[in-house]
Amino acid sequence: MAFLNDNYLKLKAGYLFPEIGRRVKAFCDANPEAAKKLIRCGIGDVTEPLPAAVIAALHKAVDEMASRETFKGYGPEQGYEWLRHAIAQNDFRDKGLDMANDEIFISDGSKCDCGAILDILGGKNKIAISDPVYPVYVDTNVMVGHTGEANDAGAYAKLVYLPCKPGNGFIPEPPKKHVDVIYLCSPNNPTGAAATREQLEAWVKYALEHKSVILFDAAYEAYITEPGMPHSIYEISGARDCAIEFRSFSKNGGFTGTRCAFTVVPKSLNAYTRSGEAKPLHPLWARRQTTKFNGVSYIVQRAAEALYSPEGKMQVAELIKHYLGNAEVLRKGAKKAGLKVFGGVNAPYIWVRTPKGATSWQAFDKILADANVVITPGSGFGSKGEGYFRISAFNSRANAEEVARRLQELKW
Ligand SMILES: *Cc1c(COP(=O)(O)O)cnc(C)c1O
Repeated sequence: MAFLNDNYLKLKAGYLFPEIGRRVKAFCDANPEAAKKLIRCGIGDVTEPLPAAVIAALHKAVDEMASRETFKGYGPEQGYEWLRHAIAQNDFRDKGLDMANDEIFISDGSKCDCGAILDILGGKNKIAISDPVYPVYVDTNVMVGHTGEANDAGAYAKLVYLPCKPGNGFIPEPPKKHVDVIYLCSPNNPTGAAATREQLEAWVKYALEHKSVILFDAAYEAYITEPGMPHSIYEISGARDCAIEFRSFSKNGGFTGTRCAFTVVPKSLNAYTRSGEAKPLHPLWARRQTTKFNGVSYIVQRAAEALYSPEGKMQVAELIKHYLGNAEVLRKGAKKAGLKVFGGVNAPYIWVRTPKGATSWQAFDKILADANVVITPGSGFGSKGEGYFRISAFNSRANAEEVARRLQELKW
C-alpha cells in the first residue's frame, strides 16, 4: 500500500482562480452580448510583449544553440556566472549594497523558490504570514505539514497570521510573541502596499533578536516609485544576517511565460540545528539547488541578462511606466466612483474597500454583472481580505480607461 501526503488533503479545495473562472464562464454563457465587452482585471499576469532587447538576446542565443561551437548543454545549476554577476552588480553593488555573485541563485521562478525554500528550513518553526497574502506562502507550508487543519474562514491552525489593515498601512508589525520564520512581500500582492524603511527596520530588529529568518518577496520591486522606500531588504542594516530575498523577472521584464527569477541567500545568514548550533543556510540552498534543480535554460538566462543592458533597462522602465500609468487611471477612476482605494502607487495592484458592507464575492458578482469587469475578491487572499477587492493594472491603457469609466457608472 502506497501512502499519500495527507497534508494535501488539508488544502482548501475551492481555490480562488478556478472559482473566478467558473463564475465568469457561467456569466458569459448566460450573457453572450455582455461577454463581448468583458475586461479582465483579475489574475496578476502581464499583458505587454517582451522588451526588444530581450527578443534580440533570445534570437542570438537560439542561433548559438544551432552550431556545435557555441552549443550549450547543462549549465551550472545555480545559474551562469555572467548573469549572477549582472544581478549582483546592477541590483545590489551599484546601489552600495554588499553582495557576492555566488549569493545569487538563478531559478525558473520565485513561486517555485518560495515553496522550495522550505526544504532547508526545519519542521518545528513557528511561521508568521501576513493576512491577506499571496496564497503560495500558506499552501506550501500546508503541503509540507507545517500547519493543522483550516477553519471555516480558511485560516490554518499553527500558522501565525499577521493582520494587514488600513491602520498599519497594510504592512504588518512584528508580533508580541515569538516566531521563527516570517514572510514579507513588498510591494505587496494583493494590497499594493509597500513597506517603509522604518517598517522594515522594525522587522530586521525583531528577526535579529529572535534569531528568526525573514523570507522577503520583492517580486514587484521595480514598481517602487516613492523616493526613500527600500527596494531590497538588504538596504536595512543587519538584514544580511536574517533575510532571504526573492526576486523575479516576471513583473519587471514581463517574464511570466519566459520564466526566470533569483533568490538571494547571504553567506552570513544562519539558522540553528536541533541542538542549537548556528549553521549558514547558504551551503544548504546550494546543495538543494544542485541536487533538485538543473538550471534555467541558457537561452532564457541570456534573455534575463539583456534586461541589464542600457536598452533593456530603458525598455523595462517603459513597461513599468505603462502599468503604473494604468494603476493611476484605475485609482483615480475608483476614487471618483466614491470607492475607498489603497495601493497602486508602488505596485500594479489597487486594493479597494467594497461599498455598503458588501462581501468580496458580492462585489465580484456585481462588478461582473453590471460593469462586465473581472476583479479578484479580497477574501481569496485570506480572511482579512474580506470586504476588499483587487484590481490589476496589467492591461492595455484603453482597457484601464474603460474600466475606470465603468466603475464610475456602477450603482451600488
Ligand atoms: C508574480 C509574483 C511572483 C513571481 O513569481 P514567478 O514564479 O517568478 O513568476 C512572486 N511573488 C508574488 C507575490 C507574485 O505576485
